[in-house]
Amino acid sequence: MYLPEPVTKIRTGNNMKRFFIIFTVIMSIMAGGQAQAVDPLTSTEFDPVLIGEGSEIEIGKNTDQQLRSKYRISTDQQLNQRINAIGQRLAAQSERKNLKYTFTVINDELVNAFAAPGGYIYITTGILQRLKNDDEIASVLAHEIGHVVNKHSLKAIQRQMMAQFGLQIMGAMLGDGGISGALLVKASEISASLLLLKNSRVNELESDAEGVEIMRLAGYNPRAMIDVQRMLLGVSGGKNPPAIISTHPPSQERIDAIQRKIDNTR
Ligand SMILES: [Zn+2]
Repeated sequence: MYLPEPVTKIRTGNNMKRFFIIFTVIMSIMAGGQAQAVDPLTSTEFDPVLIGEGSEIEIGKNTDQQLRSKYRISTDQQLNQRINAIGQRLAAQSERKNLKYTFTVINDELVNAFAAPGGYIYITTGILQRLKNDDEIASVLAHEIGHVVNKHSLKAIQRQMMAQFGLQIMGAMLGDGGISGALLVKASEISASLLLLKNSRVNELESDAEGVEIMRLAGYNPRAMIDVQRMLLGVSGGKNPPAIISTHPPSQERIDAIQRKIDNTR
């Protein structure tokens, strides 16, 4: 979350800033039940993240444990090493390169990939079978890193917790943004349940843009992202569309935006 410094040079502490964010969010919730408020400082989309990075990583760790008991994790060492090498090369170029990213291959026919908060990224053997080369694999992983960088799932978890706990959770998060105990367990449950839900159009566009940037910096061909989108669009009208169609809906709009991003960053 980025908040510009107040115009007057008076130093307001972190808590003051947080209080302001929370106050604004509460006012907006009271005003109309909207999860998003308008930031009076920037007048742009306002989606403050109150959960601190330490808690984000804890939520990710718990989610990872749940996934590991739910899915069959691939034991193919060569494949895991290849995916991890591509993933780490990309992650090193991301805006959140301080995180410790893990890239896990799930042994499943399901054609999917997803990201939990804190840098935990998953890709299925089902989608890997459809990807033709390292650039295409990098396209999928870079997009998922884009979700982590933009804290998309963390924001969704937070929205859901606000809806469920209201002011109580706000109070718990006030301070250093740390959550613990039952709240952390709850956040992790929500996190796991969100992984198979549809990402919003805006989130997809944001993650693609971040993905293109990361690919370019890491030396992968970002055009592969368009090939992957076309492949997914091609199968999206079929009888049994792959899971990734519902979690990361492909669209011509995304292809056009990726194309523009590539043209503009060359
Ligand atoms: Zn996505």
